[in-house]
Amino acid sequence: MTNTCSGCPSTWTGTTKCHCSAVGCHRTFGSIFGFDAHRQAEPGHCTDPAALRTKDGRPVLELRDGIWIRRGAGDYFSKAP
Ligand SMILES: [Zn+2]
Ligand SMILES: [Zn+2]
Repeated sequence: MTNTCSGCPSTWTGTTKCHCSAVGCHRTFGSIFGFDAHRQAEPGHCTDPAALRTKDGRPVLELRDGIWIRRGAGDYFSKAP
């Protein structure tokens, strides 16, 4: 099953993935974790997933085949300065 977005050309498969349909974002995440992370670091805005860091400074998400997936086990995330 292929999912599509009404606001961009993205397609993705799998029901566990999350696509953000916010203006200027339209990123696809491997799970709700990444989606929540990019929305919670700056409430009300979408944070660039590449800028999200765990508390010890490691990247939280990585882009693989057009999808942002969780890298480490850290639950804490913040936007890199
Ligand atoms: Zn979209
Ligand atoms: Zn977003």
